[in-house]
Amino acid sequence: MTDSSKPVRVRFAPSPTGMLHIGGARTAIYNWAFARATGGTFVLRIEDTDPERSTEENTQIILRALRWLGLNWDEGPEVGGPCGPYFQTQRTDTYEAALQKLIEADMAYPCFCSKETLDAKREAAEKTEGGYAGYDRTCRAIPADEARARVAAGEPHTWRLKVPEGHGPVEFEDAVYGHMSFPVDVMDDMILRRTDGTFTYNFAVVCDDVNMGITHVIRGDDHLSNTPRQVL
Ligand code: GLU
Repeated sequence: MTDSSKPVRVRFAPSPTGMLHIGGARTAIYNWAFARATGGTFVLRIEDTDPERSTEENTQIILRALRWLGLNWDEGPEVGGPCGPYFQTQRTDTYEAALQKLIEADMAYPCFCSKETLDAKREAAEKTEGGYAGYDRTCRAIPADEARARVAAGEPHTWRLKVPEGHGPVEFEDAVYGHMSFPVDVMDDMILRRTDGTFTYNFAVVCDDVNMGITHVIRGDDHLSNTPRQVL
């Protein structure tokens, strides 16, 4: 994903669920070098949205490892910057605001299915020939006023993206893989906000990249399949 009309702003966005590994270091080097070569800005953002696996100790290890590699960041933890805070857990209000926009635009809906129900459905689907094709959209069919009333009554729920129907493929240019095209009709109505109120990586990353004015996303190709969902 690129926008070549603006000064370069790139980010390295590790999740502190472990130490900095060699793949992360490689991604950080590419981002840093691209920023330095173009006179751009290198942003460091800590993606600590997974409350169970993220630790402060890992964050410190990552910061220390980046400094040891000589990869100084222009904005981020310890140095601050105009787009802070640079920890996702401190940016919840911005995700909440983005979710409200989606709700108002009828592009998100509450899902009341319990984890047990979802697990059982997935298990059953995995035994069929077609396999598991994502959430079956049960709650998408609930009339809006009923859904609103259930949310207001405090019934536990997640918020899901309402993947548009009859939408053409999501397309984007990848500097390494070229023109990419993914059909939308097989995309899952992914969870944006969990039952406990925390936001998922796929949603938070988009809010942050937009709000931090990121111009180029440079990351491992394990994220290629996330990209169409994030574009959507
Ligand atoms: N936090 C993600 C990870 O550590 C990277 C996010 C991204 O670069 O978009 O895998």
